[in-house]
Parts: sequence; C-alpha cells; structure tokens
Amino acid sequence: SYGYATVAGREEKQARVNDVFHRVAERYDLMNDLMSAGLHRAWKSAMVAWLAPPHRAGWRFVDVAGGTGDVAFRIVEASRRRAQGTVLDINASMLGVGAERAAKRRLDGNLVFVEGNAEELKLPDMSFDAYTIAFGIRNVPRIDKALNEAYRVLKPGGRFLCLEFSEVDMPVLDRAYEAWSFKAIPRIGEAVANDRESYEYLVESIRRFPNQANFATAIRAAGFERVAYRNLSGGIAAIHSGWKL
Ligand code: SAM
Repeated sequence: SYGYATVAGREEKQARVNDVFHRVAERYDLMNDLMSAGLHRAWKSAMVAWLAPPHRAGWRFVDVAGGTGDVAFRIVEASRRRAQGTVLDINASMLGVGAERAAKRRLDGNLVFVEGNAEELKLPDMSFDAYTIAFGIRNVPRIDKALNEAYRVLKPGGRFLCLEFSEVDMPVLDRAYEAWSFKAIPRIGEAVANDRESYEYLVESIRRFPNQANFATAIRAAGFERVAYRNLSGGIAAIHSGWKL
C-alpha cells in the first residue's frame, strides 16, 4: 500500500524507521516540542478529549506506536487513573524511555509496555475498548494491515482514533508550513540530535501520507463505521475516528 509494493521496499522502510527512532529515543520528547512548537501537546489533548475515556475500572486501551508513552499517560489521567493500557511499539529504545517516564509518574500500575509490530499485533481478538495511534501509522509500511489489526483487537463497540500529520487546507499556512517542515525541521534535527537525515526522512514521510479523505476511505475499508475526522491547526494534523460496530 502507498508505494511499498515489494517486500524489500517495505523492509527497507521499516528498518529506516527503526533506526531513526532508536537514534532519537532519548531526545524524542524534546524534539517533539521543538519541531511542533509545542503544538503536539494540544493535538494529543484534542485526541484524548474526543476519546473521552470513561472513569471506570476495567476499560482497556492499546496505544500503538506508543513510543515514549505520551498519549497513554494522557488517557490514563483522563480516566482518573482507572483505565488499563498497553503501550505497543516496535522500538525497544522508545519503550524504555516510556517505561521510565511511567514509573516516575506512578502510572506503571496502569500501563504495560510491549514490543510489537502494528502490522501484526500479538494481541488477542476483541480485547480492547479503544485503539489509539498518534504519529505512528505513517511510519508503518502497510497501513491497510495495521488498520485490519486495529479492527481485529477491538471489542464490538470499540473505538479507533488516529492522530497524524495531514493535508493543510489553507494556502497561506501551506506555504509557511512547507518552509518550516522542509527547512527548519531538518535543521533542528541537525542542531539538537546531530541527525539531519533522520528528520529529512520524517518530513518526507509526512508528505507521502494520504490526505484526510483518502485516509478515511482506508479506515472504512478495514470495516470501521461512522468514520469521521477533525482537522487540527488548519490540517497540519488531523484526528480520524471510527467505530467497530
Ligand atoms: N505515539 C508517540 C507520540 O505521539 O509521541 C510516538 C510517535 S513516534 C513519531 C512514531 C513511533 O512509531 C516510534 O516510536 C516508532 O518506533 C513507532 N513505529 C514505527 N513503525 C512501527 C510499527 N511497524 N509498529 C509499531 N510501532 C512502530
């Protein structure tokens, strides 16, 4: 899907992604703040607000490509520390940082950190009330596989929410954003993480990702219903929502 027709192409993409996040893990949270000018915090809050986790023990979610745990921490807090979450990521370095942060916040009783691939979740069918993925799915070579897996692990009545960079819908913002992403982001990457190339790759992956409408179509194709999306910051990012009914 989306240009990775061959096994070699897919594997190369995933290897590249793994290398990027292994290298940036320790600085990932700082980099996120710098490169999104802090906006990722508001976007994650918007996703968790739309999810509106209940304040009920036994409600379970999986945060795929959960990295250093940001989204999972917010969900647990929004549930008044009742939700139980699985943070799944392909990268042990990111998960290591996440587990450390969880312990510091005393959220380790609510969360487990699991190494795994979004394309092939080693998780049972119908086991979660919600599946979330933030800035993760564009890194996954086969998006359709990841969406099918999301559908599989959700309980009937379960909710899918995805936060991802998307297509800017304001021409003026679009040009400013292009300049920011193609010039500033790799420069920040070079200055802070001494790694320009990794950040060039990340910007390129944003450009290649399907726009709001096309991604909504892919979500429907996986079986989700009532698919909807909300733009954030003029479409720089978008949240997609779907239900397994
Ligand atoms: N969700 C976190 C956040 O919003 O701060 C982390 C997002 S980070 C930009 C992308 C994450 O996707 C990385 O931690 C990376 O290891 C993970 N990832 C990439 N490919 C993956 C895959 N195939 N399966 C699971 N996680 C993957």
